[in-house]
Amino acid sequence: MTEKIQAIRGMNDILADETGRWQSLEALIRRVLEQYGYQEIRFPILEKTELFAHSIGETTDIVSKEMYSFVDRNGDNLTLRPEGTAGCVRAGLQHSLFQTGVQKLWYNGPMFRRERPQKGRLRQFHQTGVEAFGLPGPDIDAELILLCARLWRELGLDDITLQINSLGSAAARLAYRNVLVEYFTGHKDQLDEDSRARLERNPLRILDSKDPDLQNLIANAPAMSGYLDPESADHFAGLQELLTGAGVTFTVNPRLVRGLDYYCKTVFEWVTSRLGAQGTVCAGGRYDGMVEHFGGKTTPAVGFALGMERLLELADLKEPLDSRPDLYFIHAGAGSEARAMQLAEQVRDAHPSLKVILHCGGGGMKSQFKKADRSGASLALILAEDELARNTVAIKHLRRDLPQREVAWPALPGALSELLMNV
Ligand code: ATP
Ligand code: MG
Repeated sequence: MTEKIQAIRGMNDILADETGRWQSLEALIRRVLEQYGYQEIRFPILEKTELFAHSIGETTDIVSKEMYSFVDRNGDNLTLRPEGTAGCVRAGLQHSLFQTGVQKLWYNGPMFRRERPQKGRLRQFHQTGVEAFGLPGPDIDAELILLCARLWRELGLDDITLQINSLGSAAARLAYRNVLVEYFTGHKDQLDEDSRARLERNPLRILDSKDPDLQNLIANAPAMSGYLDPESADHFAGLQELLTGAGVTFTVNPRLVRGLDYYCKTVFEWVTSRLGAQGTVCAGGRYDGMVEHFGGKTTPAVGFALGMERLLELADLKEPLDSRPDLYFIHAGAGSEARAMQLAEQVRDAHPSLKVILHCGGGGMKSQFKKADRSGASLALILAEDELARNTVAIKHLRRDLPQREVAWPALPGALSELLMNV
């Protein structure tokens, strides 16, 4: 081969010395979600492109420039999922989940967006998404936020702050959109190129611009709150009351808008100042119109997605389990290998929680002992010619100054129970 093949930029390998932290985080999230009665759903990574175009919205950054799309051999337009809500809704509709009452679902997995790779911004990244279908009131919005707050607490993160806003009904947003277009058109000379394009296509997104030169203009723009319809205003007031009652601190950020076109009423973001420009750890909101838009019956829905890489960057997670083995099985001499393999299987049968490394790759006793020692195992099992002749195994303590023992083969699992209780 001429050049070494490298992974695609922005798509990282997660090596064995990192997967422990991932597993800890995933286990914690799963446990908290189960505490609230959410159930896991899994759906494909690849979907028809139109699913994303019609749910996220043609004018959003994701659909207009970040999707990995290709034409399949039979002419289908397919896309690697850039987020999970669309696939979750598609699966729910396909399997008639929304006709059987409330659905509280979650998923975790890779998402793909062709962004400029940088710290906290990858092209393959991972999200945990949580979606609740069939509940129209602010109670469920509040529950999702409380669930997040619990996660941060359990992770020991006290510097993630909550911002909320209401985008109102579709009609209210349209009215607000017109007001915004008028305002920004009046200041067109101050807009950057991106924002000028957004002015026609998706003016609400100008509020989301990260351009420092625009911040003043954005701060002085008319706020959505002045244009909320009464129902959305009530919903928003209800949410704030519930959050206050539950002791959750929040800021109302009238400039907070979200990428999806179908968001309505509640939107929220959890933000930290510790990750620079990539400070949003978790974001979500209500999308009451989406199920209906895809041909289902009207189904209120609310959800959020949290960025696993950003959370891992913040959290001080310990490896879940000691990765060191308990036993390292050394064997030498004719016939010992097959016997050692049998005995190791018996030990694994009797003690499913033990890590048993059977030495592979040959070599003399001395080098095997070295490997056993380096592995960090607490005990070595030894089957050399003498032991083989006597139908026994020797058990040697590697970390403690205790005498070596010799046990008959059938007695090995029992002897290990005794010993390992005291290690
Ligand atoms: P941003 O404003 O940072 O681009 P977004 O609004 O595009 O975020 P969402 O689509 O709401 O992000 O995704 C929810 C969460 O997923 C984000 O808050 C973030 O933590 C994470 N996330 C989004 N895009 C990426 C990415 N390219 N790399 C890593 N994490 C990401
Ligand atoms: Mg983005």
